[in-house]
Amino acid sequence: MSSRRQFLSRSTLLALGAAMGQRMSLAASEPKIGWSNWSGGQTCANQALLYPQNENELINILKSSSGIVRAVGGGHSFSPLVPTQGTIISLEAFNGLIGHDPNRLQATFHAGSRIAQASAELWNIGQGLFNEADINVQSLAGALSTATHGTGRGLQCMSAHIVALKLITADGSIVNCSQSEHPELFQAAKVSLGALGIITEVTLQNRRAYKLKEQIQVMPITAAMQYVDQNKDRFSHIEFMAFPFGHRAMVKTLEETQDPDSPLPDPWLDENALLDFAANTAREYPWTNAGLQHLLGLFVSDSQRIGPSWKIYPSTRAVRFNEMEYQVPASLGMQACEEVMDAMRQHKLDVFFPLEFRYVAADDAWLSPFHGRDSVSISVHQYYRQDYHPIFRIIEPILRRYGGRPHWGKLNTMNARDFQAIYPHWDDFKRIQGQVDPHGRMLNSYLRQILA
Ligand SMILES: Cc1cc2nc3c(=O)[nH]c(=O)nc-3n(C[C@H](O)[C@H](O)[C@H](O)COP(=O)(O)OP(=O)(O)OC[C@H]3O[C@@H](n4cnc5c(N)ncnc54)[C@H](O)[C@@H]3O)c2cc1C
Repeated sequence: MSSRRQFLSRSTLLALGAAMGQRMSLAASEPKIGWSNWSGGQTCANQALLYPQNENELINILKSSSGIVRAVGGGHSFSPLVPTQGTIISLEAFNGLIGHDPNRLQATFHAGSRIAQASAELWNIGQGLFNEADINVQSLAGALSTATHGTGRGLQCMSAHIVALKLITADGSIVNCSQSEHPELFQAAKVSLGALGIITEVTLQNRRAYKLKEQIQVMPITAAMQYVDQNKDRFSHIEFMAFPFGHRAMVKTLEETQDPDSPLPDPWLDENALLDFAANTAREYPWTNAGLQHLLGLFVSDSQRIGPSWKIYPSTRAVRFNEMEYQVPASLGMQACEEVMDAMRQHKLDVFFPLEFRYVAADDAWLSPFHGRDSVSISVHQYYRQDYHPIFRIIEPILRRYGGRPHWGKLNTMNARDFQAIYPHWDDFKRIQGQVDPHGRMLNSYLRQILA
């Protein structure tokens, strides 16, 4: 929730690189016990956390083991997709560009590549992702498996740009799929929650490399909603973050530009430290919440910056939180958002973090929450030290009433029957899952509950 989004600094990249290097040195035979996601909300004492170094090692693990196997990427999902008492497999060592087609603007990556690495490598070959999420530390496989998205009326989630995938199924078989090869499996695998097998390679349709101009404006919430509604077709990317108790919102727009890069605004304070301080204070003294939200709106000034798309997209999220997000039909987005904020105020919900409002275009992946409909994505966050249940309990029924579909990587309480009602291809997905994994080895208890 920062205003002056910073370029991914060299030190951040180095830290990421170092972390990845450290992980990569753990061979498949050196298991690590115990796992937790980014927010700390999902943990498990699994039998082993394995880091195969190549496809043969991965296949050997699958063939020689029994029991549940789950893949993990960056561990940035809030929902219980990864935890298992069985084996967790990380493809941290499967990273980097494999090849590219400069005419079709397609590129094939090892699926464990983090978005940060992939988008930087794309820039070097003159390509760019169509859009990116708020952060770029997710793995490609993880982001694609949950239909990760950014914002923009004409921009689809990342999974919509998959051209081909290589899957290693539970029995160790290698299956390539695309529109022309195993087309049904391909439709299922585009957003597959790690339930069909382990994705080792992915080919993405990209576009020419481009630069972006980012503008952040702070304004009253009602003005922000009006501005976003009126300008949603003018900017390729538009979104707002609203602080319902402070009645202020930050509107962020991105547009393509050829203008020279602008230097990074010099942050005079550490925004993550400020956010942590404010969230902590509001937690301990709830009566300060509205005042702090208002103050934050005053601290944050309008800003602008220009640079390569892959440097402009990501934010640094250092203050942990838990999140719920639903995708509602685009035409109802503003109304739903208004109702959510009214409920937050009416129930005096104890939350400092802002609500986020974004646009995502329709696609055709079977389990994409954007399947067949242009959507508005509405998310609510709670500081990781606070219980999120009271907030999500009030907000979730509102978003469901608007026909919302939850983000696969974020918290929700939908069950098998609910999913079946909102996904026209739910049973098709289950059929394919049963075919490629007849013994249900890729299903942890959460997936078993919703898919069994
Ligand atoms: C701070 C923060 C900001 C976020 N911002 C956004 C945002 O702007 N937009 C958005 O849409 N989402 C956002 N998310 C959610 C995030 O993008 C998704 O949850 C994404 O799936 C995380 O990717 P990951 O690599 O961490 O995957 P994980 O969380 O590790 O795994 C996600 C799923 O992918 C599967 N998986 C991982 N690797 C493989 C593999 N090799 N083969 C098969 N399956 C695999 C896992 O089994 C699991 O089901 C955010 C999350 C956080 C914590």
